Amino acid sequence: MTDFKFPLPRHDAFLIGGAWVAPRGGETHTLVNPADETRIADIPMADEAEVNAAVAAATAAFDSWAQTPLAERRRLLVRLLDLYNGAYEELAELMTREMGTVRSFSSSAQSWVGQQHLEATLRAMDGFVWEESRGDMRLIREPVGVCALITPWNWPMNQLVVKVAPALAAGCTMVAKPSEFSPLSSLRFAELVVEAGIPPGVYNHITGSGPVAGSALSRHPDVAMVSITGSTRAGIAVARDAAETVKRVHQELGGKSANIILPDADLRARVIEGVETCFSNCGQACKAPARMLVPHDRMDEAADIARAHVETIRVGNPMDAETGQGPVVNALQYDRIQDLIQAGIDQEGGSARLVIGGTGRPDGLNSGYYIRPTVFSHTDPKSRIATEEIFGPVLTIIGYEDEDEAIRIANDTVYGLSGYVQSADTERARRVARRLRCGTVFINNADWTADMPFGGYGQSGNGREHGEFGLADFTELKAVLGHG
Ligand code: NAD
Repeated sequence: MTDFKFPLPRHDAFLIGGAWVAPRGGETHTLVNPADETRIADIPMADEAEVNAAVAAATAAFDSWAQTPLAERRRLLVRLLDLYNGAYEELAELMTREMGTVRSFSSSAQSWVGQQHLEATLRAMDGFVWEESRGDMRLIREPVGVCALITPWNWPMNQLVVKVAPALAAGCTMVAKPSEFSPLSSLRFAELVVEAGIPPGVYNHITGSGPVAGSALSRHPDVAMVSITGSTRAGIAVARDAAETVKRVHQELGGKSANIILPDADLRARVIEGVETCFSNCGQACKAPARMLVPHDRMDEAADIARAHVETIRVGNPMDAETGQGPVVNALQYDRIQDLIQAGIDQEGGSARLVIGGTGRPDGLNSGYYIRPTVFSHTDPKSRIATEEIFGPVLTIIGYEDEDEAIRIANDTVYGLSGYVQSADTERARRVARRLRCGTVFINNADWTADMPFGGYGQSGNGREHGEFGLADFTELKAVLGHG
C-alpha cells in the first residue's frame, strides 16, 4: 500500500464536450465517508438541462468517433490503460474513502478489475469479427450510437470500465452517470479519459441522481442505448423510461445466487470459501453466493464451520491492514440490512436459526456503517432472508434432501445472475451447472475472468458484459445485400 495523501479529483463540475463545466447551481449531494460518517465533499447533481447538454455533446461527437479508424481507437485505449495503471493506487484509495471497501481489497480487486476490463476489451477488439461476407451479403458491426452508462457504487471501477471500454472500442459516444455514492473514483477516471486524448464529446461525465439525471438520460430521444448496472428496481425504471423511444436497454441487475455444496464436496473447505466469497466487499456484490445449500444431515456441521470462520473476521476501519470487513456504503444500506437481519431473527420461531451476528454494530464500533457479519442456518427457502437481495454480510444456509431438490431451490428465485456448485466429482458438478438457470456458474470456485460473458437470466437483467460479449452489445448489425 502506498502512502497516498488523498487529493480529491475535480468534483465540482461536469465533463461536457471535453471541458469541465460548472453546474448551474442546483442540488448537491453530500458524500460521507462510511467508515466514520464524516463529510468528504458536496457533489453537484445534474438537472435535466445539464443532462441535455451532455447528450448534445455526445451526439455532436458521434459521427467523427464512429468513423475513427479502429487502430486509432485502440491506440487511445492503450493510452488510457497506461494512465489507469499509473493511477491504480489513487483509484483504490478513492474507492475506500467513498464506499468503505477494505483498502487492501481496493488494490487487489477493485482497481485490478478495471484494469482487467481494459485489457480484455483490447483483446476482444483484436479478435472481433467487425465485418464478414456471406455470399453477396456483407455483415457489418457498427456502433449503436450515443450511450447512457449508469452505474452503482459497489464496484465503482468494475462497472464503469466494463461499459466505457467496449463503448469506446465500438465507436460509441457516451454520457456516464455513476452512482452519487461513489463519484470520486469515477471522476478521477474521467480525468484520465481526458488525459488519454479521447476526443472532446466522446466521453461525457455527469454526477447526478437516478430519478433526475438517470431518468432524463433514459428518456432522451438522442440516446440510442442505456446500459445500467444497479438494482432491479432501477433497471425496471430505466426500461420504462426508455420504452417510448425504443432504445436498446442493457441491464445488469440484482441477484440472490445459490452455492450448492454437494454431499461429496469437502464440507469444511467449501463452507469457509463460501463464507469468504459471500462476505467479500462486505457482501456488496451482485453475484455474492448469499444462499448456501447443504444436505439436511450436514446442516449443523456446516453452521458450526461457518460460525468458527466468521469469528475470525475482524470488522473495523477499512484503512487498517488487519481489517477483514469494513462498513457498508451508507446509512440507507445499513438500515436495509438491519431490517433484513431482524426479519431473519423474527422468524427464528419458524425455522431460521441465528448462528452468529445479529442487529446493531459490532462491539467497540460506535460510528460508521458497520454490520455484524451474520449467518442464519436452517433457513426456510421461501423466507425474506432467503429470497431478497440483502447486499450485506449476511449468509443464509438452506438444507436440501437430494440433488434435484438442491437444483429446484437454487432456481426458485426471480433472479438468475450466478450459481456455484461444489463437488469432488467433475461430471456431477457439470451436470448440476447445466441445470442452473443463471448467467454464470462457478464450479469449485473457479477463478473469475474478464473474458467470460457476465449477465443474468430473469430479473437479473438482459445482455452480457465483459470482453467480446460486451463489445458485441455496443454494436448494431447491418446487412448490406448486393455488396459483392
Ligand atoms: P441503484 O439501483 O440504487 O442505483 C444504480 C444506479 O442507477 C445509480 O447510478 C442510480 O443513480 C441509478 N438509478 C437509480 N434509480 C434510477 C432511475 N429511476 N432511473 C435511472 N437511473 C436510476 O443500485 P445501487 O444501490 O447503486 O447498487 C446496488 C445494486 O446493484 C444491487 O441490486 C446489485 O445487485 C446491483 N448490481 C448488479 C450488478 C450486475 O452486474 N448484475 C453488479 C453490481 C451491482
